[in-house]
Amino acid sequence: MATSIITIDGPAGAGKTTVSKLLSQKLGIIYVDTGAIYRGVAFEIKNQNIEWENDSTLEIFLEGLDLNFIKKNGSLLLISSGRDISKFIRTPEISMLASSSSARPQVRAELLDIQRKIAKTEDAVFEGRDMGTVVFPEAEYKFYLFADLAVRAKRRYDEMPNKVKNINKVEQEMQTRDNNDSQRETAPLKPATDAIKIDSTFLTIEQVVEKMLRIIEKA
Ligand code: C5P
Repeated sequence: MATSIITIDGPAGAGKTTVSKLLSQKLGIIYVDTGAIYRGVAFEIKNQNIEWENDSTLEIFLEGLDLNFIKKNGSLLLISSGRDISKFIRTPEISMLASSSSARPQVRAELLDIQRKIAKTEDAVFEGRDMGTVVFPEAEYKFYLFADLAVRAKRRYDEMPNKVKNINKVEQEMQTRDNNDSQRETAPLKPATDAIKIDSTFLTIEQVVEKMLRIIEKA
């Protein structure tokens, strides 16, 4: 494993992505958004019209899956069978499909290698749901970032360019995803026992990153 692996887990809307990007910039290392690969799987399920709830169909689909990250100008692009799909994976439909299909153990097993391969050669901040618990139990620094549901929903709502949904709907979908993620049997969302928990409800992104940097630099 590379010398420095930092994991940031937590529910949707807790600020993981913005925090991870800023932290990785400050440390001069790469940032890996592992949610993107689960979204990539969901994108291909939709694209190929796969009946992913059927075990043998899912297994055949996963065997044929060719997902990878490639590094371009310091960031990672998500490539599926040679095609950059990064810009197709951020729709609400893909969010919900990623949340349900990521509960399948076969999907999670298939994606382990892609994540661990990066850590062999790169120091990185890995953002996800099971980074500190399952994928990188030996990581040097582990953080678990959370915030009140209403605050997370408001943040997500404020980010939406064309407010097509009302805030209650955003909150409802977030709650469903939280439940899916934390109640699944394989690699549920939870803090690693040795993770440092940070409540971002009343903190700005900069304050969260400051806290993390103080912990990292003190060590
Ligand atoms: O982080 P993001 O919201 O993009 O992740 C999309 C979905 O992918 C999550 O709701 C979760 O179900 C799944 N995911 C996961 N494990 C990870 C990262 C994401 O199960 N490490």
